[in-house]
Amino acid sequence: MIRSTSSLAVLAFSCAPITSAHGAPSLPLTQQAAPATVVTSQDLGDGLHMLQSRGGNIGLLTGPDGAFVIDSQYADIAPANLAKIDEIAGDAPRFLVNTHWHGDHTGGNAAFDASGALIIAHDNVRVRVSTDQSLSIGGTLRETPASDPAAWPIITFNEDMTLHVNGQTARLIHMPNAHTDGDTLVYFEEAGVLHMGDVMFSGMFPFIDISSGGSVDGYIAALDGAYEMINDDTRVIPGHGPLSTREDIKALADMLRGARAAVQAEIDAGKSLDETLAAAPLTPWVEDWATAFMTEPIFTTILYEDLSSAGAS
Ligand SMILES: [Zn+2]
Repeated sequence: MIRSTSSLAVLAFSCAPITSAHGAPSLPLTQQAAPATVVTSQDLGDGLHMLQSRGGNIGLLTGPDGAFVIDSQYADIAPANLAKIDEIAGDAPRFLVNTHWHGDHTGGNAAFDASGALIIAHDNVRVRVSTDQSLSIGGTLRETPASDPAAWPIITFNEDMTLHVNGQTARLIHMPNAHTDGDTLVYFEEAGVLHMGDVMFSGMFPFIDISSGGSVDGYIAALDGAYEMINDDTRVIPGHGPLSTREDIKALADMLRGARAAVQAEIDAGKSLDETLAAAPLTPWVEDWATAFMTEPIFTTILYEDLSSAGAS
């Protein structure tokens, strides 16, 4: 993995969709102060850049067809992100793709729309940002109201879509029922860069949003699909975490397979959720993968709830 200097505290704050698409704070996850909104960028070549501040990592492709952006982070830092995009691209975004509906990836949509961006996403992203959502994070409910119509995607698609922009073939690939029910990977074929949205929490227990149609098996299948699609030279922009590689995808998928089997064994033994938590089946992975946001008990609960409901159906 290509390590960055991002602190765990920043990641903990940014991983969760803690604001609505309006940017209104709701149920802060931690008591820590909001980190500064400094936007950093990494030049990946071929006009591609990865931008980081709070919220999901932003992808940017510059060129004569106009700036093409992936994800918009939070509303309150949209001005800082738009300024950074203008600094790099010399223009406002022409296209904005949302990898999924969560507020740390779509919160800036209305501001991007106001700057002239055409918003593109999977059908289910439009459904979820345009309606009230009740999101469960390991049993803790978080309410997100419908966002302003300006934040809604104008172009939506059901399976896959391709954009031919700035010399790149940009493949938008829907991964069903992974992190949510509306996940899109964006693969820039010529440059060899893949933005995975939250189907990739690099080096961390991932948030799998069962309440938004995500699933453990779908998440693993999406990781395996991405791994097969790319090669060892591909640069991977994760939804959260540092710029990554194909091997980081495999490491996450392997961890998930192990964690899934460990929790499934408790379910097969007839253990309740509380008994499973007490048995701590994820112990082998906690030191390397747990974060302040996706803790051992929260991630254990997500796996248990998904796998036990799948077994019951
Ligand atoms: Zn997310």
